[in-house]
Parts: sequence; C-alpha cells; structure tokens
Amino acid sequence: MEEVDCVVVGAGVVGLAVARALALAGREVIVLEAAEGIGTETSSRNSEVIHAGIYYPANSLMARFCVAGRRALYAYCAEKGVPHRNCGKLIVATSAQEDAMLAGIKARAEANGVEGMRVLTADEAVAMEPNLRCTSALLSPTTGIIDSHGYMVALQGDAENAGTVLVFLSPVLRGRVADRRIEIDVGGDDPMTLRTRLLVNAAGLHAPALASRITGMPKDRVPGTYYAKGNYFTLSGRSPFSRLIYPVPVPGGLGVHLTIDLGGQARFGPDVEWVDSIDYAVDPHRSDSFYDAVRKYWPGLKDGALQPGYAGIRPKIVPKGAPGQDFVVQGPQTHGVAGLINLFGIESPGLTASLAIADHVLEVSRTG
Ligand SMILES: Cc1cc2nc3c(=O)[nH]c(=O)nc-3n(C[C@H](O)[C@H](O)[C@H](O)COP(=O)(O)OP(=O)(O)OC[C@H]3O[C@@H](n4cnc5c(N)ncnc54)[C@H](O)[C@@H]3O)c2cc1C
Repeated sequence: MEEVDCVVVGAGVVGLAVARALALAGREVIVLEAAEGIGTETSSRNSEVIHAGIYYPANSLMARFCVAGRRALYAYCAEKGVPHRNCGKLIVATSAQEDAMLAGIKARAEANGVEGMRVLTADEAVAMEPNLRCTSALLSPTTGIIDSHGYMVALQGDAENAGTVLVFLSPVLRGRVADRRIEIDVGGDDPMTLRTRLLVNAAGLHAPALASRITGMPKDRVPGTYYAKGNYFTLSGRSPFSRLIYPVPVPGGLGVHLTIDLGGQARFGPDVEWVDSIDYAVDPHRSDSFYDAVRKYWPGLKDGALQPGYAGIRPKIVPKGAPGQDFVVQGPQTHGVAGLINLFGIESPGLTASLAIADHVLEVSRTG
C-alpha cells in the first residue's frame, strides 16, 4: 500500500490553500478531488467578496481569520496578479431606527480589528453613490471583490510548484485509523488505498459525511449536515453603484445586498433558503421578495430588471433557527485521532479567510 505524508481531500479554495501551506512548509502533499477540476462547488458559487470582518462575534475564528485572511489575500493578489478590486462597501440605513444601529456595527467591526470604518451622512453617501437613497451609511473601505477562480489557479500553481500532486475524479470513499496512520479508500477509475500521516478533510458540504465514514473517528464529534441555499438575481445592464451596497443586517442574515463582479455586472443576493438536498436551480419567483427589499435603498430598480442568476449552498452544521456557528477546525486535541484535521462549517467568509485557515491548519498539524 502506498504511503504519503499528507492527503488533502477537496480542491476548493480552502483545500488548495491548505495544500499550498503544507507544501511550502516542506510536506509531501496529494490533493484528492472528486470532481474533474478545482473549485466546482461552493468556491465557485459565492459572492466573490473580500470581506472586511465586520459582523462576526469578537474573538471568533470567523472574525480572526477574516481579518487576517483579508490582509493576506490583498497582499497575495497584488504579488501574484490575481484580479481583484478594493472597491469598498456601504452599509445603508433607511430609517431612524437603522441610523441608530450603525454605531453598534461600527463598534463590533473595530473590536474585530477592521480598519477605517466611517459613518456618513445621507448627503456624503449620496455624493459617493448618486443612485442611493438612505438616511445615513457606514463606509467599509477595506471590503473588495476578487476573481475567485483566478485566485484558486494561483494557489494551485504555488502548491504544484512546491511539489503537490492534484488528482481529480478521485472521491475519497472511506477511511480508517490504523497504527498512527490513516488509511483511505479512493474510488474513481483507478481505485486505490493510501496510507497517510496527515489527512485534512476539506470536503466542504460533504465534510461531516466523510468524517463519519472514517472508522475510529468518534461519531459524537461529527456535526450534522444542513444546507442553506443562497440564490442570486442578476441585474441587466451596468451596475448603478460602484461600491457594494448592503442594508443594515436583519435577524438571521445580511439582508438582500448588491455585489458587483470585476466585469461591472451587478447581482443581488444571496437570500436564505433552507433545503434538504444539493440543488442549484434558482426559482424565479423568489425575485418577488427582492424587489421591495432593494427599492428601500435603490428606488430606481425597474420591474422585470432582475433575472435568475445562480445559487450556492452554505455548508451549515447547525439547523435553521439555531444560533450562528463559528468555523470548526478539529484536530487531535478535539477528537483524539492523530493525524486527522476536519474542517466543518466553512461558510462565508471562507474565501476571504482561506489563507488564514491554511496557516491555522499548518499550526494544528504541528502541535496537534
Ligand atoms: C452563497 C454563498 C456566498 C458566499 N460568499 C462569500 C463571499 O463573498 N466571500 C467569502 O469570503 N466567502 C463567501 N462564501 C463562503 C465561501 O464560498 C466558502 O467558505 C468556500 O468556498 C469554502 O471552500 P471549501 O474549499 O471549504 O469548499 P468547496 O469549495 O465546496 O470545496 C470542497 C471540495 O471537496 C470536494 N469533495 C467533497 N467530498 C469529497 C470526497 N469525498 N472526495 C474528494 N473530494 C471531495 C468537492 O468536490 C469540492 O471540490 C460564500 C458561500 C456561499 C454558499
């Protein structure tokens, strides 16, 4: 049976960032990916926003990894020529009650180490974005947008240059703990069994299912799997805004916000739709609720301007109605299995945080 130093399961943005970090640290790495290419699941079905780190609870992994990951990501994009733009974002209030909430959002952001947050009057905000209607706004100058595929290609290149081998169409079926190693059965056209010293489970939506198929991994440490789909609607024509526009958050979500891609196309979303299975079709009727929400801050939205776009699915590990869940990076100290690191619930801001998550996984691989 072949033995390899490290196996990373999943070539999404997180698996690729982890493989890169391990390889640059001198480890031998194989990435096993079920699909035929990199980033075909959640990593290509998101808003492509470089988040500042505003809303997350202080000291949570999300807050820490988002801020550290964002700083590292801007530097990485500049160094590698990954297309991105530090366009900034406005969180807009449209009532006196919401005006009062902006100070709390600003304070939370500052506690997380987010730089440059500034409350604007309605006139200041409208001077920046003439199509906007608001009563006040909060400017987040460090928010940006990124070509996520270009980023993943750069990570793949770094990893491969440092010796990593990526193997596609190779689903990891199951594993077992054996003699301080983990054995895994790999399916696909060339089924094989490998032994590894370190197994990083970066299987995204499938990470809990994979962990539960590893004999020796305590079942009570494997969280549940829940899917919260996010649907997007695209706007025909050029974006009316040059920055990202977010309403004041509503309980349970960020509200229907506008993001733009690097080509200048605007889209609204993602909303939150709890589903039982992975299905990326967008129900056109869901646009009804978008119109009213968007017109609160953009009265110029015309009837029929929104077209069904695409959807992504948040890899939730707690059900609807439960309090928000932080990222879970599970090493031997949590589950007792030497050489196994599980990444659970890596939803937003996982793209932004990916380089910081990778650094943390490297640390856990060294210290347990
Ligand atoms: C709607 C939505 C919007 C988002 N917007 C943003 C945003 O704007 N900014 C931001 O920072 N983050 C955002 N995120 C979060 C971000 O997209 C994710 O955190 C990130 O893409 C997760 O990457 P991943 O590598 O963990 O998972 P994935 O990209 O899902 O990769 C997992 C990979 O594992 C493979 N795999 C699964 N099982 C196996 C197996 N058994 N064997 C082999 N391979 C397997 C899959 O094929 C897949 O390629 C958003 C998420 C959603 C859902």
